[in-house]
Amino acid sequence: MKTAKPSPDASASHSDAHGEAHDHAPGHAHSHDGAQGAPLESALAMAEAYCRERGEKLTPIRRKVLELLLASGRATKAYSLLDEMRQIHPGSAPPTVYRALDFLLSAGLIHRIESINAFAVCHDLTQCQHGILVVCQQCGNVTELHEPKLRQALVAQIEAAGYRLAGDGIELKGLCAQCQKSQANQAAKAAQPGAAAAPEAAAQSSPVS
Ligand SMILES: [Zn+2]
Ligand SMILES: [Zn+2]
Repeated sequence: MKTAKPSPDASASHSDAHGEAHDHAPGHAHSHDGAQGAPLESALAMAEAYCRERGEKLTPIRRKVLELLLASGRATKAYSLLDEMRQIHPGSAPPTVYRALDFLLSAGLIHRIESINAFAVCHDLTQCQHGILVVCQQCGNVTELHEPKLRQALVAQIEAAGYRLAGDGIELKGLCAQCQKSQANQAAKAAQPGAAAAPEAAAQSSPVS
């Protein structure tokens, strides 16, 4: 899958998401690439030290899966990760990747993005305060809003209503700025007499799946 590849495009889209989030919540919203802002290697070293402190080990396979997610910079599906693993280690079996993902989840280094059934690196990497995730349902861009008061208020309301959240994740479905733009472009093209949406525009906005 294209979105899982480290590419200039991916980082460009992230700075967009970052700017966009800041328009709405200055100083409190972080694009999920926060960890990626630091060089990949230093993010990995940080994760490694964090695991060591917890008495756990970031094995080469766990490290590789984390690296793929860091490089992707957005929510990525398990089978795409498996495809990439197979390009590096041709014999990689699905359970290997799933076990590595389970470990990274339980260590709090990544989030499971349920609405699109994918995984994304936590923007705080080693010190997630469990923000509110906003997930582009089209491309898998994830922005983590860090508004502890908002989160607390929301959880209090949920509990007052007699519910308990099923997990730590609060996930909102959305369409990122970039995908809104490409959708608008497509609509504009479709509106032109005799012109159907260009195939490349359609490919650009293909869903994560
Ligand atoms: Zn997080
Ligand atoms: Zn998007």
